[in-house]
Amino acid sequence: MPTEKALILAGLFLLLAAAGWVIGRFAERDDEEAPPPLNIDYLKGLNFLLNEQTDQALEHFLRMVRVDDKTIETHFALGSLFRRRGEVDRAIRIHQNIIARPDLASEQRDQALYSLAKDYLAAGLLDRAEKLFSRLAEGSRYQVQAIEALCGIYEQERDWEKAIDAGKRLEVLGGRSLGLQIAHYYCELAEVAAAKGDYAAARQYVKNAQAGRPRTMRGALTRAHIARDTDDNKTALKLYHRIIDENTYLIAEALPEIVSIYTREDEIEELERALKTMLAKSPEMNALVAYTAIVNDIGGIPVIDECVEQYMLNEPTLGEFVELQQLSNAGGRDSAIAKVRRALSKLAAATPRYQCQECGFSSQRLLWQCPSCRDWETQRPASRVQFDTILQHSITK
Ligand SMILES: [Zn+2]
Repeated sequence: MPTEKALILAGLFLLLAAAGWVIGRFAERDDEEAPPPLNIDYLKGLNFLLNEQTDQALEHFLRMVRVDDKTIETHFALGSLFRRRGEVDRAIRIHQNIIARPDLASEQRDQALYSLAKDYLAAGLLDRAEKLFSRLAEGSRYQVQAIEALCGIYEQERDWEKAIDAGKRLEVLGGRSLGLQIAHYYCELAEVAAAKGDYAAARQYVKNAQAGRPRTMRGALTRAHIARDTDDNKTALKLYHRIIDENTYLIAEALPEIVSIYTREDEIEELERALKTMLAKSPEMNALVAYTAIVNDIGGIPVIDECVEQYMLNEPTLGEFVELQQLSNAGGRDSAIAKVRRALSKLAAATPRYQCQECGFSSQRLLWQCPSCRDWETQRPASRVQFDTILQHSITK
């Protein structure tokens, strides 16, 4: 029995084939009175499809309907249909078939090359896709789309130099700012250089990243990490402080670093002062500070411990489990808080810490480019332990 998939394909296939073929036949035979009889070729093609012999059906179609001006759109439509269905090999076959036509107009050749490049991309054949997109990027009506696609390919290949070039070209041709994206490309280069111990190059890349607009706070964070790794604690602290003072979400990354440097240097009071000033200005950051402390197991710093306690008292779901407020002040309360805190820490470790604001993709680690929607700097840290999912999980277990 043919599957539903084969039947749907058969319908679409024959509709497209018929459209192309009939137009051709009518145009050729408009001097004759009778319409053309149902062609045996269709029945043959249909038979292949009903037997789920899609490859044979496709070969049959390609032989039956030659690429000419009247049928070329049918071929394109069929090719893109196959690609969208994930049957990339067949899409490639169709587009190659169009390109093989010797007298193809240059516009149609570009369209076929662009379609074929998209097929290669969908098939993960990045080298071939890159070659075709590069050719179209030199001058065709697909120039902008081709450079956009090249940017995506270079990102996947982590070829940041080429990505920067493509991004800059796109800004000129497409008339829109890609400043943030390009800044991230530079930060990627800085991180690669720093990982190799080439800190001079890394600093230069960060400078380039911070030269464009809009700026990314990643530049400051990367510079701070470079300073930390080269034992330049003074600069590292200055930069981590700047991130905290500007109360950005990156406090989730900066706080553990700054705590570790201050603890080593025994200068926690400085941190206390900075955090107090920041929290007085932006009390809404309280939850993020608390959550960061819980996840990273940061304790023993009064201002942070206070944030954590407030956080527990304000968390409605927690309130149902422990009545912290009603515990006596003498000893019992502190140990209860410590207990809840340990439990929270375990729960937080089991739930994603960052989530993309565009598509909802979540991860434990901060990812500058979302692997799902490919947008840059769209992740934000969680500031709450996700009790709902944990509770659901434990109930269904
Ligand atoms: Zn996303």
